[in-house]
Formats: sequence, structure tokens, C-alpha cells
Amino acid sequence: MKIELLTIFPEMFSSFLDASIIGRARANRLIDVHATDIRPFSVSKHKNTDDYPFGGGAGMLMMPQPIADAMRAVAPEPFHGKRIYMSPRGKTLTQEMAQQLAKEENLVILCGHYEGVDQRVLDKYIDMEVSIGDYVLTGGETAAMVLIDCVSRLVPGVLGSSESAADESFSSAGLLEYPQYTRPRVFEDMEVPDVLLNGDHKKINQWRREQSLLITAKLRPDLLAAAPVTEKERAWLAEQMEQVQP
Ligand code: SAM
Repeated sequence: MKIELLTIFPEMFSSFLDASIIGRARANRLIDVHATDIRPFSVSKHKNTDDYPFGGGAGMLMMPQPIADAMRAVAPEPFHGKRIYMSPRGKTLTQEMAQQLAKEENLVILCGHYEGVDQRVLDKYIDMEVSIGDYVLTGGETAAMVLIDCVSRLVPGVLGSSESAADESFSSAGLLEYPQYTRPRVFEDMEVPDVLLNGDHKKINQWRREQSLLITAKLRPDLLAAAPVTEKERAWLAEQMEQVQP
């Protein structure tokens, strides 16, 4: 997968792109991520990228010309993929959206700044607007890192076999992940549940499934409605929840 970032702060991406799993995936050529500085594309004398909004109002807006020219340079027609604008008014990023985007050949991610971007460049060059949540950031760069992180780890081969994405929160089970433990066996008087120590994988899987159901019911009951949960499991869960909250 190839990801092109359009930003006026490309330096913000350097350590993010070099570290950890993303750095390894780039080194292994599983993903190719490149940050393009929009500023050199500006035809204005001082390489401006922003201007006052027509109609007045606070702040500055990113001008269409530098973005359009940068977009044409990194995503010439015919373009196969998705051109995304990180935006608080976009569709909220979910694991399901990340799974869909991970299938794309090319992503171009436009990071806004100031009060945002001239609407005309969005109308002409953007396929979808993506928000990382109902709050406002100073710029789209941190949002783009969130998007790149969660999409990249779903690209085949990016996660090692010991880091599978199959069994996680929001995966096909539609539930939150069960609690996990590592060494030591006893930590500050708290013990690892016995079931995880006996090597009986059938029992371990059942315990994990039950814990996922319980945690989801407690922390994100909204997810339970759509999750593939059997009638038997729903009845068991109702019983457990009654015991917790009589
Ligand atoms: N005036 C805009 C509004 O009210 O919708 C907010 C602009 S914000 C200060 C500057 C830039 O940050 C946006 O152009 C966008 O690229 C990015 N941004 C802010 N919040 C975001 C969010 N929740 N998700 C994704 N991008 C966001």
C-alpha cells in the first residue's frame, strides 16, 4: 500500500514513520508512506498556503491552489485509491472503516490546518472526509497518524504472527478484548486467573469469550446489540449482570 500525505508540517511525521511496527513495515516495503510539503507548490511570492476567509470570521483558511497542485503531483489521474481529508466533520474512523481502507492500493491523506481548507479543493479532489472523533485538533497531522497506524497494521504481513489483529477489540467478534496477563504470576498480591495457567485451551477460550462479553456489557453495551452473540450467551450474560447490579 502506498500512502501520500499532504501537509504543511511534514517534519511532524518523521519519528512516527520510523518507529515501531510502522517503521518495520516501511523497512520491509509492506507500506510506503511519504509526506509531501504543500508549501513549495504555492505560486505566491512568499509561498503562502493560507488566506483570510471570504465573508469574514476568525482565523485563516488553507488556499486551494497549493493543495490542488500538490494533489495533482502525488495522485495524477487515473488515480486508484482514496483521497482523504482529515476533518472533524468527516465520518468517524472505526475498525470497520480501517479494514476497508487497508484494501486500497493508494491513499492520499490531506491534513488541514488553521480553520480548515477551501471547500472547492475538497469538492474536486477529495473522496472522503474522516474524523478521528468529536473534538477539534489544531491540525490534521495527528489525526492522519492515527489513521495510518490503524490501517497499516491491517495490511497483510505488517503484524507478525504473534501480533495478530484477528482476536482484538472491534474485530470480527464485535466485542472488546478480554483481560490479559503476563509475568509475574503474582503482582502486588494480585494473582493471574487460574484458568490461564492450566494449559486447557478449550477452557481458556471459553473464559476469554465470557470475559469479552462481560467487559463489553459493562464498558460498551452499545456494541453488544450488533455483536454475533448466541441466545445462550445473552441469557448467561443477563444472569451475570443481574448478579453484579442486583
Ligand atoms: N474549523 C474547523 C471546524 O470547525 O470543523 C476545524 C479546523 S481544525 C482547527 C484544523 C484541521 O485539523 C482541520 O482542517 C482538520 O484537518 C484537522 N482536524 C481537527 N479535528 C479533527 C478531527 N477530529 N479529526 C480529523 N481531523 C481533524
